[in-house]
Amino acid sequence: DSFEALGITSPLLQHLSEKMHISKPTRVQKLSIPTLLEAKNDVFVHAQTGSGKTLAFLLPILTRILSMKTRVDRQSGCFAMIITPTRELASQIYSVMLTLTQCCHYLVPCLLIGGERKKSEKARLRKGCNFIIGTPGRILDHLQNTQVIKEQFASSLRYLVLDEGDKLMELGFEETITDIIKFIHEVPLDHSKFPELPKRLIHTLCSATLKGGV
Ligand code: AMP
Repeated sequence: DSFEALGITSPLLQHLSEKMHISKPTRVQKLSIPTLLEAKNDVFVHAQTGSGKTLAFLLPILTRILSMKTRVDRQSGCFAMIITPTRELASQIYSVMLTLTQCCHYLVPCLLIGGERKKSEKARLRKGCNFIIGTPGRILDHLQNTQVIKEQFASSLRYLVLDEGDKLMELGFEETITDIIKFIHEVPLDHSKFPELPKRLIHTLCSATLKGGV
């Protein structure tokens, strides 16, 4: 009944307890973390807001990356994309990711949520980032218009998380998400660069309900 027993790597464990005062996994974390760490299949996380689902998917993704012998930095490529229905949720997840990456400053998340920030988003993408967190429309916009983003996926992208999948569908993002997934799958994955990462792209769907064809 600990994050250590679930397989979370020690720099994160220390950070969780000392900086975030989190020591015991919630139910959804206990159920999801081992499956996501193993990363053999796509994962469906049935979880309400407030259940600890953000850490349930961020911790195993970070653990896999931090456990590699290969040294990585912000230029190594984007390892995970997390799509959320609202800017607020994206910002919340981004801020949790910023806190977690204090234990590994060489890993950099990027927030893509629209509004007036497109230029600064582009600049951050150009410098390189390891995690993209954002809303569907703005992510697709960058995929189609920011050339560098494609190069950052090739050989590195292993996790695609659709957070609050039920809300994403309710808000009419189905087509945009289909386009994002198509785009990602068109970029050829070169698995030789990060052999310690999952051998395929792991799709993770979080949803509070079972609606939407799951
Ligand atoms: P979430 O469901 O991801 O939005 O998380 C809801 C809240 O629970 C956040 O404020 C987290 O910091 C907190 N939280 C997540 N996991 C744990 C845990 N294992 N123990 C205590 N609090 C947690």
